[in-house]
Amino acid sequence: MLIRNAEISGRSGMSVRIRGDRIAAVGPDLSRAFGERVVDAGGGMLLPGLHDHHIHLLAVAAADGSVCCGPPAVRNREELAAALRAAAAAATVQPGGWVRGIGYHDSVAGALTRADLDAMIADVPVRVQHRSGALWMLNSAAVAAVGLDDHAGAPPGAGRGPDGRPDGRLFRLDGWLRERLPPSPAPDLTTVGRGLAGFGVTGVTDATAGTGPAEVDLLTAAVTRGDLPQRLTVTGGPELAAPAHPRLRLGPVKIVIDDGAPVEFDELVALVRRARAAGRAVAVHCVTRAALVLTIAVLEAADDEPGVAHPGDRIEHGAVIPPDLLDQLVERELTVVTQPHFIAERGEEYLREVDPVDLPWLYRCAGLRRAGVAVAGGTDAPFGDLDPWSSMRAAVARRTTAGSPIGLDEAVDAATALALYLGDPARPGGPSRRIVPGAPADLCLLAAPRRIALRTLSADLVALTIAAGHVVADHRNPEEC
Ligand SMILES: [Zn+2]
Repeated sequence: MLIRNAEISGRSGMSVRIRGDRIAAVGPDLSRAFGERVVDAGGGMLLPGLHDHHIHLLAVAAADGSVCCGPPAVRNREELAAALRAAAAAATVQPGGWVRGIGYHDSVAGALTRADLDAMIADVPVRVQHRSGALWMLNSAAVAAVGLDDHAGAPPGAGRGPDGRPDGRLFRLDGWLRERLPPSPAPDLTTVGRGLAGFGVTGVTDATAGTGPAEVDLLTAAVTRGDLPQRLTVTGGPELAAPAHPRLRLGPVKIVIDDGAPVEFDELVALVRRARAAGRAVAVHCVTRAALVLTIAVLEAADDEPGVAHPGDRIEHGAVIPPDLLDQLVERELTVVTQPHFIAERGEEYLREVDPVDLPWLYRCAGLRRAGVAVAGGTDAPFGDLDPWSSMRAAVARRTTAGSPIGLDEAVDAATALALYLGDPARPGGPSRRIVPGAPADLCLLAAPRRIALRTLSADLVALTIAAGHVVADHRNPEEC
């Protein structure tokens, strides 16, 4: 395939030849080879395919059959009850007649227990996930269905009411819960793959902590079948074996530091050491100031040689990064994988709930870069919007959906926002990947030149997405010869 008349790195009139899954040649005026398919880029900007550095693929797929339980769709107890009842009555029920809710936030009806949910819907099993992803809340029918009423069987992490009975809340118990749910068909990743391709995304890093061999098998099968045309980096634990497919690779070991949960310092240190022994970096989930302080202490304790950086180590989210911790991030060469769109999507709640002292340090970008910290972007879908372009716009605007600014000093220009999604999966905050001979033929063609593309940062401009040399999304008017 020959792409002509494209703008690459600010140079217009450029051509790119693709052979197999690689870029074969790049130049100002490549002539068409006999029988070669030609795509006229129409002067549009040609980018390396976008890489979403933090996503949860299986959860995005599962979200399809789920009911939204948080703002803006659901804002109070009455709306939540109505949404759950409607889901129970409609075709959105899951295997076993379960209702699966997602995106819950405390602003709807506070901390939900089984009693709260029973008052809304009692006749079918219901589970509602907090939008942090850390908590499932079950009604009594669901509690009974998973055998949680058997006191001896309640795992650590199951909440208890004043009477000592399980109250229906399950903290970080996804694996435990999954084993007790009715068997469900393997999630279909076709829609996810197609949606990502439509945004110009040709690679993702699945940052799920609980990724094990079963999940890797599911993802490998989806890539092999072509359901997922993207290149995948998976996290998971230190014992996870490398996937046996060239388009999947092992990334850092995901470590979750939970706020509110008791801190097992020595266990965290041991986990980092196991990651190091397996030759892997770590990606630590940090959403508070305290979690970041703890993470730095854990990394320090895990290293035999103090002060040695491990490039590839990442802070996931870095929701709050106060200035006094910047030096340590730089020293350890920690990359922050941030979600600027949370400022837009969740900003109004942050303004109400976050300690005003922390507001300037939320989901930072420009300030981190100024200090020398590498920054990359990830949508965190399904907890954030799947569209990386909306994330880029938020990185530039730093405004809530209602228009209130948050931490304007952290705003970046459009080119920097775009680059959040152009890094190499192995070096997320490093230099953008380049369109050069020998590079993978993972490309995103926009319907406009750079000047306009940067002004709009819109997924509407994605004209063509090529992954491993194949067209995986085509939004153009057919005009190829
Ligand atoms: Zn996440």
